[in-house]
Amino acid sequence: MKVALITGITGQDGCYLAELLLGKAYRVIGAVRDVGVARAKLPVELAQRVELVKWNMSSQAEMKEVIERVKPSEIYNLAAYSSGSGMYDDPVGIGDVNGLAVLRILEAIREVDTEIRLCQASSREIFGEAVESPQTECTRTNPRSPYGAAKVFADASIRIYRQRYDMFAASAILFNHESPRRGLSFVTRKITYEAARIKLGLGTQLSLGNLDARRDWGFAGDYVRAMWLMLQQSRPDDYVVCTGESHSVRELCEYAFAHLGLDYRDYVREGEDSYRPNEPALLVGSAAKAKRELGWSPEIGFRTLVSMMVDADLQLLDAKT
Ligand code: NAP
Repeated sequence: MKVALITGITGQDGCYLAELLLGKAYRVIGAVRDVGVARAKLPVELAQRVELVKWNMSSQAEMKEVIERVKPSEIYNLAAYSSGSGMYDDPVGIGDVNGLAVLRILEAIREVDTEIRLCQASSREIFGEAVESPQTECTRTNPRSPYGAAKVFADASIRIYRQRYDMFAASAILFNHESPRRGLSFVTRKITYEAARIKLGLGTQLSLGNLDARRDWGFAGDYVRAMWLMLQQSRPDDYVVCTGESHSVRELCEYAFAHLGLDYRDYVREGEDSYRPNEPALLVGSAAKAKRELGWSPEIGFRTLVSMMVDADLQLLDAKT
């Protein structure tokens, strides 16, 4: 039986990945900072089906001990300080967890068993102010935040261990991906949640930043499938994981409100307060390599994703009222 160790299992991607791997008959172990807190955070059905072990992103000795004990065949490193508005908070903590911790995991694997395969959740934030569009595995990195810089360090460490120690380590360069499990601080979920509140008469207005900001948004369930595929190959490599489509915040609003029979222009206000500085050039990826080598492509399109999130928020709010 294959054994997967997942850091960040309580997050959006962690839950989808755990469900995917359980469906493939893996033994799934979540490596978490607090077992009790993590169990309470997980969806109930998932909490009953996964094992949890305590794991400290700042302690290589603890990582080594856990890896020795659970003997994973695959490790998925999804734990990280969030992007979005959190990208500039606590830069030293971000450097440690999103960057240096990846080197600690690589060292722990090297010491325990170099046959263990590692997938690192990298980010399109490594491109920052992108120098070309679409962004590919070959695009020059140009991070504009401690978050992006830490991910660049992690990716470089992955490449070094792959080359120097012949380890199976790979980075998934993930563009934005969303789902009903996305945190409420992210613009996608903020829109679908507030649209559902307005529909139910619980809210009247939604203030947003730049409505013309564009992103390449996909569905989290599709992206964790790409990460799994990366570890099933005969050799490790890094892949951009994205939809290749760019949509504006305005389109997102339009689809979310239209799904509820509403016109977003009656409710959405463009304000300065949530404006994100350093808005980069067109951020859109090319997943041509993932398509060619992994046979991966996203199954859920943008409009379906938005509808799925709105429906889930309606259901959630309905259950609360
Ligand atoms: P998420 O929902 O914010 O989940 C983050 C996870 O990281 C949680 O399980 C959290 O655990 C854990 N974590 C945060 N700080 C930690 C710390 N100091 N020590 C240990 N664990 C910590 O993130 P996600 O959307 O699933 O993203 C998964 C990975 O993909 C991340 O590495 C992220 O950077 C990367 N990524 C995501 C996107 C995206 O659009 N979603 C795009 C590019 C890259 P707690 O429950 O203990 O807080």
